[in-house]
Amino acid sequence: MPEFPASLVEFQRQFPDDDACAAWLVAARWPSGFRCPACAGAKGWPHGGKPFTFECAACGKQTSVTAGTILHGSKLPLIAWFWAVYLMATHSNGISALQLQKQLGLGSYKSAWLLCAKLRRAMVAPGRAPLAGLVEVDETEIPLRTKTDPVCGGGGRSPQGKMFVAGAVEVENDAPGRLRLAAIKDFSAASLHGFVADNVAPGATIKTDGWPSYARAPDVRHEPHVVGAMAAHVVLPWVHRAFSNAKTWALGVYHGLRRQHLQSYLDEFAFRFNRRRTRHAAFRSLLAIALVRKPLTYNMLIMPEAQG
Ligand SMILES: [Zn+2]
Repeated sequence: MPEFPASLVEFQRQFPDDDACAAWLVAARWPSGFRCPACAGAKGWPHGGKPFTFECAACGKQTSVTAGTILHGSKLPLIAWFWAVYLMATHSNGISALQLQKQLGLGSYKSAWLLCAKLRRAMVAPGRAPLAGLVEVDETEIPLRTKTDPVCGGGGRSPQGKMFVAGAVEVENDAPGRLRLAAIKDFSAASLHGFVADNVAPGATIKTDGWPSYARAPDVRHEPHVVGAMAAHVVLPWVHRAFSNAKTWALGVYHGLRRQHLQSYLDEFAFRFNRRRTRHAAFRSLLAIALVRKPLTYNMLIMPEAQG
């Protein structure tokens, strides 16, 4: 992977124009030189007429440096993508589509929203390792934002106006390690066991507040701590802090979250949390994942998460 900028000034120096961005992408995508995605031929040359495109010497196929990646088919200049990646990855709270549209001078809110939505899908590294060791696991509710009402919350146990979220944080030497957040259907054993199986490595120990649904979660050791609601933050401090910060962030940056896109926003929060000590390196990891994520269309992005 090529170098990443360590400051705004370095970013501007390193990426003054589309050519500089394309050169970075070429180096990231083909670190040992161009390789044709059709025939695996290693010989190619820049296409004379088309920008950032290579032509294979063996089969003649033309490949744009963004072909087959999340940047594929975008009408935005590469520099707009790079700026968006930089702002989303390095800013401690991220950036909303509206702010991005203004900062980059983009013509429409829709193109800014699409850019953010695509990058959010590049915030889960493929094949990332599950959490291991001692892991705090808990669940929470967050109010959802509807079309008619900016933010609302149903009373009592009604799922009306609320979404359910499970969270897990690794604990290493009394400090938080990596975080996972997932939208779940309910707080049943099936939902919570599913969350643990997807996010926690076999053999790890999960620490919970003793909610019965966690009992007998497969493949992990369970340390239930039966506590009153008031004391849960003492037993599970890190996952509680993550929930509380995620809720504050969702309200502050997005004025609340919608059910349809909940998981991708949770992924965005976890991406930034997990790279809180390496924000500038996060620029490179976000672009690197964007290069291996398959292209997405607007219609794919507006589908409810469950189908997408
Ligand atoms: Zn070829």
